[in-house]
Formats: sequence, C-alpha cells, structure tokens
Amino acid sequence: MFRRFSALFLVASLTACSVLPGDSKQAPRAPARQQASGPIDRGGAAGQCLSELGQMQADFTPLPDRYLGKGCSNLNTVKLSGLHGDLETFSVTNLGPVTCSTATAFAGWARYGADRAARQILGSPLKRIETFGSYNCRNVAGSNRRSAHATADAIDISAFVLANGQRISVLGDWSKGSSAERRFLRVVHESACKRFATVLGPEYNAAHLDHLHIEGTNEGKSYCR
Ligand SMILES: [Zn+2]
Repeated sequence: MFRRFSALFLVASLTACSVLPGDSKQAPRAPARQQASGPIDRGGAAGQCLSELGQMQADFTPLPDRYLGKGCSNLNTVKLSGLHGDLETFSVTNLGPVTCSTATAFAGWARYGADRAARQILGSPLKRIETFGSYNCRNVAGSNRRSAHATADAIDISAFVLANGQRISVLGDWSKGSSAERRFLRVVHESACKRFATVLGPEYNAAHLDHLHIEGTNEGKSYCR
C-alpha cells in the first residue's frame, strides 16, 4: 500500500511542479512526506483526494476511519503536518483530523490565498498558521444541530505568523490592526470564500470574533460572512 501511495504521490508531485512558474529552471523538489499508516486502502474518490492533496505539496498522514457515535466521525481524514508556499514551508498548529477534501482546499488557500497575500500586503511570507482546531464532537453554538467540526470538516483559524516575526490575529487585528493587517485579514477571508463552502468571521457573530471558521469545499456556491 505504501508503495502505491508513493507512486501516486510521485506523479502528483511532478504534476504539481510542472505548473509552478519558472520551475523548469529549478532542481526537482523532493516529494513531500507521506506515510500510509496501518491498513488504510483508499481507492476511488478517497484515493483521488489524497493524490490532489499531494499535488498541493502538503505534508500529511492519512488517518484510519472512525465512527465516534452521536453523529460524530472521522472519515477520509488526514493529519496535516506542514504546507508549502511558493517559496518555503510553513506549519499549522493545533490541528487534529481534517477531511481530505477540506484539507486540500485549506492547502490551496494557505498557499495561493494566505501566503501570497502575506508577501504582497505585509512583505513577508507565512511561517505558521495558528488554529483553534478542527475535529470536535459538538453542536453549532446555540443550536441542537451538529457542527461541521463533528465530522472533521471544518477548521478554526486564529492567527498568522510571518517569517519576520509579525503575528496577525483575528481577535487582535480584524478591527484594531494596522491598515495593512486589516486589509490582509479581509483579503484572506475573501479568498477563503472562493475555496470553502462556508466561511464565518468576526462580521458574522460574536462567537467568531477571534477566528475564521472555514468549512467544506466550494462547489459553486458559498456562505460567506
Ligand atoms: Zn468553527
């Protein structure tokens, strides 16, 4: 199984490299780490998703499927350990299992939305994305409906740390940051709306004053607040 993942992955990495601007002048990048743990055999759509996540050059480990009762589960999830920007690698803190599809949208948004915005607006690449987590067997706050966190389909983003040491947090900088910091947060919020099915930030309600909730994949329409 590991060999099959690796072969898939190598193809995925080469495909990804071939579309990077100016990449033909660079030495091939080593494939990102991927470990198949245990007897996970993901063919079909699930395997295709892992391949796409590999194309985003994410470092990740597929996790075993788990039904956790009470409407909570981890199906087709991965553990993300690192992401690649155009020029460098950055980390993501405090993240548990995330469904492969949401992880793939997240890797794309982190690279093409957040990292590029950090360099263009704030002059420094991303070093770290801080989160309040992903999987959590709970309801939507104030309701009796299961949250997307209960199926590991959502991530709460709390802050961005740049290579120059600057830290931009949703709580501290959405309203009170410098004009560049406020612009950065709005640009990454807007770009998230293009990739995720649901994006909720400080403008939505008081429960989201300190994070951006990103959930699912944008299949042509998104709920963006
Ligand atoms: Zn959330």
